[in-house]
Amino acid sequence: MLRATGEVTARSPENVNPNIPTGEVELQVDELEVISTSPPLPFQLDEENVDETLRIRYRWLDLRRDKLQRNIRLRAKAVSIIRREMEGAGFVDIETPIMWKPTPEGARDFLVPTRLQKGRFFALPQSPQIAKQLLVIAGFERYYQIARCFRDEDVRADRVQELTQLDLEMAFPDREYIFGLIERTFSAVWRETIGEELPTPFPRMAYSEAMLRYGSDKPDLRFGLEIEDATEVTRGSEFKVFADAPAVRFLRVPQEFSRADLEKLEAFAKEWGAKGLAYIVYGEDGEPRSPIAKFLSQDELAAFRSEPGTTVLFGADRPDLVARVLGQVRLRVGGELGMVDESVWLPLWVVDFPMFDWDEDEQRWSANHHPFTAPTPDSEPMLEKDPGRAIAQAYDFVLNGNELGSGSIRIHRPEIQQRVFGILGITPEEQRSRFGFLLDALAMGAPPHGGIAPGIDRTMMVLAGEPNLRDVIAFPKNQAGVDPMSGAPSEVTADQLDELGMQLKPETKPTAGD
Ligand code: ASP
Repeated sequence: MLRATGEVTARSPENVNPNIPTGEVELQVDELEVISTSPPLPFQLDEENVDETLRIRYRWLDLRRDKLQRNIRLRAKAVSIIRREMEGAGFVDIETPIMWKPTPEGARDFLVPTRLQKGRFFALPQSPQIAKQLLVIAGFERYYQIARCFRDEDVRADRVQELTQLDLEMAFPDREYIFGLIERTFSAVWRETIGEELPTPFPRMAYSEAMLRYGSDKPDLRFGLEIEDATEVTRGSEFKVFADAPAVRFLRVPQEFSRADLEKLEAFAKEWGAKGLAYIVYGEDGEPRSPIAKFLSQDELAAFRSEPGTTVLFGADRPDLVARVLGQVRLRVGGELGMVDESVWLPLWVVDFPMFDWDEDEQRWSANHHPFTAPTPDSEPMLEKDPGRAIAQAYDFVLNGNELGSGSIRIHRPEIQQRVFGILGITPEEQRSRFGFLLDALAMGAPPHGGIAPGIDRTMMVLAGEPNLRDVIAFPKNQAGVDPMSGAPSEVTADQLDELGMQLKPETKPTAGD
């Protein structure tokens, strides 16, 4: 870094450079001072494709790059607009504890041991869910917070372990009010940061329809390529795979795929749990080419008949698996064939989620949203009898195929909360020890309440057009959940462990270079 003092003079006409802002002037330096020096940089600020861990290792340099400067400043602006909108609507900003009881949001907890209570642990909040319900019960009828949440799960391009949410909750919630508030707030963010309009009101789609037509609970509506159902027409098919499958669905892709393309797609489908990927290719002559065509009846062939230059791709399995596989194939093919209209913003409310999902591995029900979500009045009587059919008063805010936030109307009656805990396999003793304080609060005149929590990191990723969440966070961990800059998480001394009454198992000793 240099400091130069001198007189600014006009450049002679032949030396004017119109391409730079200071191209018309020159500094006649009288005094030059070196303020600080630097070794050669580990990477140049205009260099592309620098290894991400190296970038995070020298984040103070990385953050000087135009793109990251823009992203971090954009984030500050967006959060400031969000705060203004929340406060304008009468929401009160209240902090909730970071070291507390676990909040179940479907991830593992980060635990914090404490010297004063050896053998006991705080959990970092997976979200402020329980705290915000208590605040509303306590009379803060509109609460919000830009809240940090911690979830110990695998890091992906669109998922970090330490995330930030716009967390909000209100008493006597009206779903329409919450939808309107989010629509206004996010429209203001889009308009005032990047000058784009989100089309309001956001359309709505039931979860079941989203799964059926798009194979996803966060459908990307920027392209068609909808999934079609063939379960009826394939009942009694001579192609055994179709006849025996609980669900048969297909995609009509406007492309004549080669055998090599189909092999790649089949391998991809298998990664998502498919046993195979049956297909019919309609070449330029319009004739079906497929190893399964000879097994198909006239009715079946009529149902699949497509334009020349089309490939029909099938999923035949359990409905949830078919949805997942074809949903992923749809996204991949849509992206590869350039079908996605990158110029549009297409938000969506996904509504009418199921209350519970059946967990095959654990052989038990788990909450689709979280255990505090209220069933619809119609579903209440069937909770125990038919948990798989119970519908939740839950909703997701989706934009261009990204889930930006989830929310729900909550259970405010303790007996319903106990019944839901029971279906989730939480015994009455466990209910007391884990959630006794919430049950007590619900029993003391809790108003109906509900809310939502859009993720700030995800929102920024979509707003800034970044494929990687870490590029909208000033100091992210890398993909292994490590901060290569500070070296966190780091080892602690034997004395520190001793004070906490803890000891590491020999096999968990950190290895060099971790
Ligand atoms: N606590 C929920 C979450 O973090 C959001 C909500 O229901 O308000 O996903």
